[in-house]
Amino acid sequence: MKSHARVVVIGGGVVGVSTLYHLARKGWADVVLLERKELTSGSTWHAAGLLPLFNLSYSVGQIHKYSVALYKTLEAETGQNVGFSVCSNIRLARTRDRWDEYMYYAGVARTIGVDVNVLTPDEVKAIWPLCETDGIIGAIQHPDDGYIQPADLTQALAKGARSRGAEIHRSTAVTGIARRPGGEWLVRTDKGDIVAEHVVSATGNFARQTGAMVGLDVPVMPVEHQYIVTEPHPAILERRHRGLPEMGVLRESDSSWYMREEAGGLLLGPYEKGAPACYVDGPSADSEYELFQEDLERLMPHIETAIARVPAFGEVGIKKVYNGAIAYTPDGSPIVGPAWGLRNFWLNEGHSFGVTAAGGAGWQLAEWIVEGEPSIDMLGVDPRRFGPYASRGYLKAKNEEAYANVFTPHYPDEERAAGRPLKTAPCYDRMKALGAVFGSVYGWERPNWFAPEGYGIDVASIEKPDVLLNHNHPQPDADGRVKEIWSFRRSNHFEHVGNEVRNVASGVGLQDMSAFAKCYVSGPGAEAWLDGLMANRVPKAVGRIHLCHLLTVRGGVRSEFTVYRTGPESFYLVSAGALERHDHDVLAKALPGDGSVQLRPVTTEWGVLVLAGPRSRDVLQKLTSADLSNAAFPWLTGKRIDIGHAQAHALRVNFVGELGWELHHRIETQNAVFDLLMEAGREYGIRPFGIRAMMSMAIEKSYRLVGRELSIEYSAYESGLDRFVHPNKGDFLGRDALVRAHAEGDSWRFVTMEIDGVTDADARGSEPLWAGDDLVGRATNGGFGWRTGKSLALGMVRPEFGEVGTELEIQILGERRRATVIPESPYDPGNARLRA
Ligand SMILES: Cc1cc2nc3c(=O)[nH]c(=O)nc-3n(C[C@H](O)[C@H](O)[C@H](O)COP(=O)(O)OP(=O)(O)OC[C@H]3O[C@@H](n4cnc5c(N)ncnc54)[C@H](O)[C@@H]3O)c2cc1C
Repeated sequence: MKSHARVVVIGGGVVGVSTLYHLARKGWADVVLLERKELTSGSTWHAAGLLPLFNLSYSVGQIHKYSVALYKTLEAETGQNVGFSVCSNIRLARTRDRWDEYMYYAGVARTIGVDVNVLTPDEVKAIWPLCETDGIIGAIQHPDDGYIQPADLTQALAKGARSRGAEIHRSTAVTGIARRPGGEWLVRTDKGDIVAEHVVSATGNFARQTGAMVGLDVPVMPVEHQYIVTEPHPAILERRHRGLPEMGVLRESDSSWYMREEAGGLLLGPYEKGAPACYVDGPSADSEYELFQEDLERLMPHIETAIARVPAFGEVGIKKVYNGAIAYTPDGSPIVGPAWGLRNFWLNEGHSFGVTAAGGAGWQLAEWIVEGEPSIDMLGVDPRRFGPYASRGYLKAKNEEAYANVFTPHYPDEERAAGRPLKTAPCYDRMKALGAVFGSVYGWERPNWFAPEGYGIDVASIEKPDVLLNHNHPQPDADGRVKEIWSFRRSNHFEHVGNEVRNVASGVGLQDMSAFAKCYVSGPGAEAWLDGLMANRVPKAVGRIHLCHLLTVRGGVRSEFTVYRTGPESFYLVSAGALERHDHDVLAKALPGDGSVQLRPVTTEWGVLVLAGPRSRDVLQKLTSADLSNAAFPWLTGKRIDIGHAQAHALRVNFVGELGWELHHRIETQNAVFDLLMEAGREYGIRPFGIRAMMSMAIEKSYRLVGRELSIEYSAYESGLDRFVHPNKGDFLGRDALVRAHAEGDSWRFVTMEIDGVTDADARGSEPLWAGDDLVGRATNGGFGWRTGKSLALGMVRPEFGEVGTELEIQILGERRRATVIPESPYDPGNARLRA
């Protein structure tokens, strides 16, 4: 084994080998893979090999699409057959909610460029004659996917990597990793040491152990997953004999299982409730090709539904049950990208559909390492989307829940219960007493909306379709009632959110936004450093606030910060709560090495209460000696003010487009501030409002969000951030690429659209936008605007379709509606209310 390499990849499963392959394909031949046992001896060897393209996440969808395309080319490239059976995937629907999910997905798939067919029950029967179709309302089919032999795939990727100069060392266990004084990594193995510029951890079920070697608490923990293989069935053998095509992969989503042909028999893979986390403290040192004892009792409900759907399954004996470890993260998506806090340490872990994802994840990670950026927006799989709250116990609860929910409908308004509440702001109990229905982001409990006093829906009254999984509401309270029903359409909370908006727009509302990510940037070099990072000018005067974007080297948008100057050498930065670890890691890694700038994360030191609405000044003025008049306290400024016997930094900004202040206060004083505001606001009808009301109002203001219309895939100009980009202020990260791309012509344009004909389903983002039969863009956000009375969507379209007045069509849950491009900020375009 050589003593130096540019990259060391740890782990010889399909994911590690694909990463190695793609690094070599990018021209980095000096790359080495270390595998403690044999290639594929972790989870890869026993995978069922299914390649489901289906995924509601834009990032993961792109990754899967790339994989399926790549795998079809590998045999020609390497001479190694990968056993890819392109037999298609059929997903059955038995309920309207399921159909809505499929129709939403079909739209996402169109925007990614994945083909989806819609099948009638008769068409299903024609393809899958052994499948009974009673109760089926329809199906969707991916004609281009199927299943593959995971071990053969891995070997083909290994061959392709080796032929480009990469080395693979089997029976070589990494035992420790240390940083050398020069910054390189020293990778210790039981066969000697190797020094590397970059290290990639692709160690499957060992992810937490590998992470511990460098002090990372990696948010991955596997769960047991089983599948059953039957003896051959005469009807299938007969089909083979007659040369009929394979029946394809069948998924009965409402009973939570997949099925395909296997060697003349059938293979059934259920996602069961109650499947336990495994390898909670990692596999043992000698773990290799390991399987667990099967648990047939857990499988029984699925076996019964499988027999009802495919009677042939019950007519043959069980040949073998596989029960293996499948890596999970709390949201079920993998973690692919840079490790937080460590330079040149990369993670490609937590893959629960690793055979499907390996190609795309290896491709994008290699791009990130070699070129400094991926080309796909990877926020949905970024390792930094979880924080330090994702502890061992949290992972156990959340990952078991993620596994059990693989096949439940993925409602946009669903909020899962496991591991909650975990992080609560001090005002949590007060909000709860006021009717808050909470959601969870980055471990924080945040009010989504507020139910009226005594409000509840009797669970017994909710229609229950006859399916194994019925998950359209949270667990009922002790009185057998729930506060919300989840849906792809407007649901019971719709009108209550409307009331919250009306109250903000006509009076005053109070919102808890303590989950915001916050940090101080200070020191003699702080201003110059921030100026070199941000596309906007950083505020010159103490007390000024600017919205600033940190771009990628290619001019895309990586992060957005509200920058508030608190002193000559001090700035307070606020960004999205969900992106705390991401944003702070990006800043920390960009810090100059000379100590002239300090970064101090303060998220949990400062709470945030947002007071918004035309009466907010009246409320706050009752409590403070500070002059809140427009002249003394204009929009986009902040100052420290007293609030009764408490105090806060009052920032005259908000995300709802009304007069208002964000009150950043010491978190331990939150309840004092809260009570003072509620009391002072009583005469003005103050009421709390939640995230859903905020989102409705933000869309009416055409406010952009990172992960939606702000993305590394769109340049800052394409996202319409012109007024926040100052190419003439001097150099900043991404400037040259941004200016060049803009001069050459933008590929996208940000638009606001009014949707006609909506009855009960607004856009929510990722819907295709059509001009006739041409796909010209995608929606990035959407919802009903209560102040404008319009169903609205934001989106990115080809520039020629971005003119105001252009009539497009948007495909919402399978139906096309007219979408007219309208001027930005349909509510108060001149910002008169913000400046009031
Ligand atoms: C029953 C079952 C069925 C499945 N079916 C499917 C399916 O149909 N489709 C699909 O896409 N996915 C499926 N999966 C999931 C799939 O198996 C995994 O997502 C995938 O194999 C993960 O690959 P990996 O490379 O990340 O991990 P692994 O294959 O586990 O590889 C990690 C490797 O790292 C090595 N390693 C760990 N630590 C070290 C160290 N310190 N030094 C050196 N080497 C180390 C290990 O020995 C191991 O070989 C299934 C899983 C199970 C359990």
